[in-house]
Amino acid sequence: MNFLSEKAKRLTPYVAGLQPQGGGWVKLNTNENPYPPAPGVFEVIRNADAEKLRLYPDGESGALKKAISAALNVNEDNVFCANSSDEVLALAFQAFFSGKDNVKTPDISYGFYPVWGEMYDVGLDFVPVGEDFSINISTYEGANGVIIANPNAPTSLALSLSDVEKVLNQNTNGIVVFDEAYIDFAQVQSAISLVPRYKNLLVVRTFSKSHSLAGLRVGYAIGDPALIDGLRRVRDAFNSYPLDMLAQLGAAAAISDTAYLQKTCAQVIATRDKTAAELRKLGFRVLPSQANFIFMHSENAAQLYEYLLQNKIIARHWKKISEYLRVSIGTESDMEVFVSCVKQFLNETQKKQA
Ligand SMILES: *Cc1c(COP(=O)(O)O)cnc(C)c1O
Repeated sequence: MNFLSEKAKRLTPYVAGLQPQGGGWVKLNTNENPYPPAPGVFEVIRNADAEKLRLYPDGESGALKKAISAALNVNEDNVFCANSSDEVLALAFQAFFSGKDNVKTPDISYGFYPVWGEMYDVGLDFVPVGEDFSINISTYEGANGVIIANPNAPTSLALSLSDVEKVLNQNTNGIVVFDEAYIDFAQVQSAISLVPRYKNLLVVRTFSKSHSLAGLRVGYAIGDPALIDGLRRVRDAFNSYPLDMLAQLGAAAAISDTAYLQKTCAQVIATRDKTAAELRKLGFRVLPSQANFIFMHSENAAQLYEYLLQNKIIARHWKKISEYLRVSIGTESDMEVFVSCVKQFLNETQKKQA
């Protein structure tokens, strides 16, 4: 590959979860929502005027911004939209972290952070999580920047709003990014209420998980207008029309239907808690989840992962955390299939040992 730049040769790309083609899979590996998007999404996309696709879309996503600001009770100049929260995060790395060192992030967290750290020349300082995977906020003091997923992935644990505020107060010289991809499934409160008081706070959100729109690729950030301007600067140096017309329409319809959001999140939470209880009854340690997935311990996690896969159930397993599996929450019936496969695995491994 002689044509690659030195930088491209050095990169370690993110490894995304499998997206199997063809039917028959119970897909519990990428934290997608098992329920359909809000009914309004179907309506606006079905009724969209395809003739308008001739034109470039609104680069500022004005109508979507308005819908986000109304749903979350923030000003429109506090909102920034982009083509996925991955893109928002990549732009934030470029706008606020590029070329800096001592940017702190937990050592067990979202796998894209180290990739962007490398890509945008950020000296990331990976702070070890505790034995129980908890984040000790006192270890984040005095950084040049902080990025924490809250709730964290793949651990499913969350920081309280008062801990979030402490991190902001300990780092007044750096931007603190809270990646709230899973906040709608959490008991802890969002950091958005702190935005008017903290100029160094950027909250990043996605439509992929709680709004069931992973395929539409929409993310956004909430922060002080100066930070929003910083993101806009970098965006306009890269892609000034990040969101297509259909994505803007669909996302605006989704965020406007808060009743549907609450209903589907409550369903996922109920299924999550029931699944965790059943696994605990079988003797597994399951971390107390505040997300739409569970993080479970198994000494034989690698074998369990393979066994599930043979039975067309996909979970997520990492060599780095080899005794754990991350399992996304599907429908009630998906999780019944999953639990019964786990039981079957236990029976077979016990038989072999006997
Ligand atoms: C899923 C996920 C994202 C990515 O969301 P997209 O908007 O689909 O790019 C970002 N951060 C975390 C922690 C996630 O788990």
